[in-house]
Amino acid sequence: MASLEVLREIEELRREIRRHDRLYYVLDSPEISDAEYDLLFRRLQALEEEHPDQARPDSPTRRVGGSPIDEFQAVLHPAPMLSLGNAFTAGELRDFDTRVRRRLAGVSATARDQEDVPDRLEYLAELKIDGLAVRLVYRQGRLVLAATRGDGVRGDEITHNARTIRSIPLLLEGEDLPEELEVRGEVYMSWPDFRRMNQEQAGSNEKVFANPRNAAAGSLRQKDPSVTARRPLRFLAYGLETAIPGLERHSRALEFLEGLGFPVSPRRELFAGIEPVLAFCESWHTRRHEIDFEIDGVVIKIDRYDLQRELGTISRSPRWAIAYKLPSTQVTTRVEGIEISVGRTGTLTPVALLEKRLVDGSEVSRATLHNEDEVRRKDVRVGDTVFVHKAGAVIPEVLAVVPELRPEGTRPFEMPTCCPACSGEVVRDPQEAATRCVNPACPAQLEGWLRHFCSRRAMDVEGFGESLLHQLVARDLVKDPADLYRLSLEDLLPLERMGPTLAEKLLRNLQASKQRPLHRLLVGLGIRHVGEHVAQVLAFRYPSLEQLASASQEELATVHEVGPEIGASVAGYFADPANRDLLGRLAGAGVRTTGEPQAPPEARLPHLEGRTFVLTGTLSRMTREQASARLKAAGARVASSVSKKTSFVVAGAEAGSKLTRAQELGIPVLDEEELEAMLASSGPPEEP
Ligand code: NAD
Repeated sequence: MASLEVLREIEELRREIRRHDRLYYVLDSPEISDAEYDLLFRRLQALEEEHPDQARPDSPTRRVGGSPIDEFQAVLHPAPMLSLGNAFTAGELRDFDTRVRRRLAGVSATARDQEDVPDRLEYLAELKIDGLAVRLVYRQGRLVLAATRGDGVRGDEITHNARTIRSIPLLLEGEDLPEELEVRGEVYMSWPDFRRMNQEQAGSNEKVFANPRNAAAGSLRQKDPSVTARRPLRFLAYGLETAIPGLERHSRALEFLEGLGFPVSPRRELFAGIEPVLAFCESWHTRRHEIDFEIDGVVIKIDRYDLQRELGTISRSPRWAIAYKLPSTQVTTRVEGIEISVGRTGTLTPVALLEKRLVDGSEVSRATLHNEDEVRRKDVRVGDTVFVHKAGAVIPEVLAVVPELRPEGTRPFEMPTCCPACSGEVVRDPQEAATRCVNPACPAQLEGWLRHFCSRRAMDVEGFGESLLHQLVARDLVKDPADLYRLSLEDLLPLERMGPTLAEKLLRNLQASKQRPLHRLLVGLGIRHVGEHVAQVLAFRYPSLEQLASASQEELATVHEVGPEIGASVAGYFADPANRDLLGRLAGAGVRTTGEPQAPPEARLPHLEGRTFVLTGTLSRMTREQASARLKAAGARVASSVSKKTSFVVAGAEAGSKLTRAQELGIPVLDEEELEAMLASSGPPEEP
């Protein structure tokens, strides 16, 4: 017997899940992420299994989807449109295989030859597209009915809307088609289309959707088909419901559907036995960026129809299929603050400070909001609950606010009118989205420079993080990077959270950094246009800082991969007495100023492999040609125009139509800093 406490928990979970089902399936406005929902659902499932006397036919664990909406004609599904059982781990997937083989062996002992149950079943693995299930009925080859899944038994009739989706054939071309043919598949929206649509929605003060799935559902269930027609919906077929003589396998049925003109999941694979299926599923943990639409897992189906029929279904899902769920890439979290970070070039960047969450394998507590326009467009406010994911599986991005959960008394974000660090004047070039602090003595710019100098890409001084550098600047101990090398134990000991052991370690780290190769020092100086690659080129060409400093602008301009613009910047830098003074002090402190007889490496970077970049605008630390060469060397592709296939657009100053196009298509846009970080690291860039 279940205790009162357990009964209460079961009731509470059922109520909560029903509420979220309604928000998700009927209103297309979820308040929690799928991962959070799955936790509630699994907890209820576990409790119901432990206490079978509490099982109820109307429990959300027994039901599929949400109820149909009154505004549409209800359609009865002749064969129910079910949900799928889930496997979250390798063990659960193996259990599924054992379960179905046992069940088939049991059946075969009486009804069939034992030989008919192979040791290794054939499974077709397909991507689990995150959209919504739709049933299409064709009579004499013509589309006559389209319906949503609804509660699995009864759905909404959406034929007019389905007709507006270009990838749904209206007329099937094929010989000997059965009188009636039923196809099931997923209506979905790609990431770029979703971003673009949300941008337009925000522009006209309309509902902004949390994810492509909700956007697809909301777009498909419109009373006015002309609204659906304007929404970028797509369709992928994954099931044939009509028996066709000779078609006895699911894999063959998909080929048949492809032949009729339906788009079918291109990444499907047929496997013998569960182990290779598992390897396929696991490979998708890191392959998600290969496709431009959201998947939430892999669906594994027994390929042979006769075996499917024998296994049959349980109340909510078929026994012959299972969904291997990938970890959610999207979470909800709360905006605890919006901080303005002032970079070393003076740019003011709003950053959302988030309640910490695990997203796609790493903890996220901050997400850049890029600039004033971006915050306004998404209307992100302190106190809001927001959906967060990683753009291109790399950069944390706030997707949308959950308006229903906005607490009272929030205020729209306003960009500060003076620099939050030095109270100096800020200006915004009307042509650009960036707002900048123009005070050259701004301490935040100095801190930014020091952070950059100490970063892994530059002098790699371990332990000199944000809070330490902040204290050093606030106490006037450091006014430029050379001052770091004059720090003593006495300077460090009075700082917060500092002890003799740590202070000595920090001094040792500084000492060690003096031996970094010349190009690292060049990066750390922050010379305009000199990023990591140019620094390597210069250090290779000029074996010492002295030689580089005395090279003329004309000479520099002739160096391969340097050119006139960078040449002018480098020569200008060394002509400035203040910079020469800094370099003199660095050399005096014992920092190495000689180069290395080594050509710049061109390592392939796995996180860039196969991604397509488009470069636009003027970059400040490298030319577009250099950026392009480096991206290619790292394994990325560089294209000249922005299309739906573009993974990232890198926008420099005065970026024009390509940036607009990227925004229209919803392609993630990187600034130069983010590009550098991607090129420099063996993984995603550090958080802003
Ligand atoms: P499901 O997503 O677990 O699986 C069934 C669905 O998968 C099918 O109906 C079909 O639409 C889809 N699918 C995609 N590709 C497929 C393919 N190749 N073959 C077969 N089917 C394919 O089940 P569900 O009932 O649609 O949804 C449950 C999930 O929805 C939950 O796990 C949860 O993540 C999410 N959900 C979230 C909330 C929320 O508030 N965030 C609320 C309710 C449900």
